[in-house]
Amino acid sequence: MSSGYQLLLLLRKMGGCVVASKVAKPTSILMFHGVVETADKGAVDAGLHLPVDQLEKLFAHLAQNYSVISLQDALAGKHGVVITFDDGYRSNYSLAYPLAKKFNIPFTVFVTTGFLEKELFLWHDRLAFAINTTGCDSLSWGGSTASAVQSRRPEIFAQLSNWLKAMPQEKIESSLTGIEEQCGAPLATAKEIPAHYQPLRWSEVEEMQDSGLCIIGAHTHTHKILSRCSADTLEFEVKTCRDLLEQKLGQSPDYFAYPNGTADDLNESTGNCLERHGFSAVLTTENGYLRGESDRNAIPRFGTPRDEKEMDVICSGLPKLLGRVR
Ligand SMILES: [Zn+2]
Repeated sequence: MSSGYQLLLLLRKMGGCVVASKVAKPTSILMFHGVVETADKGAVDAGLHLPVDQLEKLFAHLAQNYSVISLQDALAGKHGVVITFDDGYRSNYSLAYPLAKKFNIPFTVFVTTGFLEKELFLWHDRLAFAINTTGCDSLSWGGSTASAVQSRRPEIFAQLSNWLKAMPQEKIESSLTGIEEQCGAPLATAKEIPAHYQPLRWSEVEEMQDSGLCIIGAHTHTHKILSRCSADTLEFEVKTCRDLLEQKLGQSPDYFAYPNGTADDLNESTGNCLERHGFSAVLTTENGYLRGESDRNAIPRFGTPRDEKEMDVICSGLPKLLGRVR
């Protein structure tokens, strides 16, 4: 058993008692993506699209035990838990928004504007769909060949995902198209496109924003990893997204979330570009808490908790007390 796993077990055991204690809890920002009606446990991307009954349990637990605050209030110094959704899936409106209203939970959605404009499907969804549905048993990419694909779908998906993420962003499209063709399963031309891969409609984004419960943030135009883009592509990704949001929603977005968002996916150039376009806070996917002194150009978040217990561990601040995160 790895020490990381042992630590997680310990944290999960301790979570309940720390939550019950009066220790001041730091502000945690949680990151979600899509939501689905029913879980497809066999799908390689099951972790990205949370079953709606699980989201309801998490929201109910949050509403009962924590102060759930907007990103804006958290940045102004209020303490609590902040909910964010990345990418701009339609399920944020159809499944998550009704629950947010039911439990009065403010949330922020970071949208990929090209996805909403129906110019593209997100590359990780295209890859997942190809691998989930392919009937082909052998695949080649970047000089390597994999066999027995159908019995190793999660493993092949992870390998291909890492291969695509590591290449210059301008090359992803042609490489991914090659994989889709080999799999015989391009998402864009599929007979039936699964509902959970669909983008939000602008009218839905507007309705959520007007409700006062939802803040809309930016997440690039085509979901490229910005540190791997040329200067021109970086400018295009940030400016196009910002301008479209301003044009469609009548106000410029204040907040931005980096696609992929690890420490390697941002640098001085990406930071300067975002600052130039007026973003006052930029979020990553590195784990950590929001504190007064946190760098507003790299605000950490936590991934989607698997259950209420894991949520308690995160929101209690226990990982910080144990020195595991900032
Ligand atoms: Zn994303």
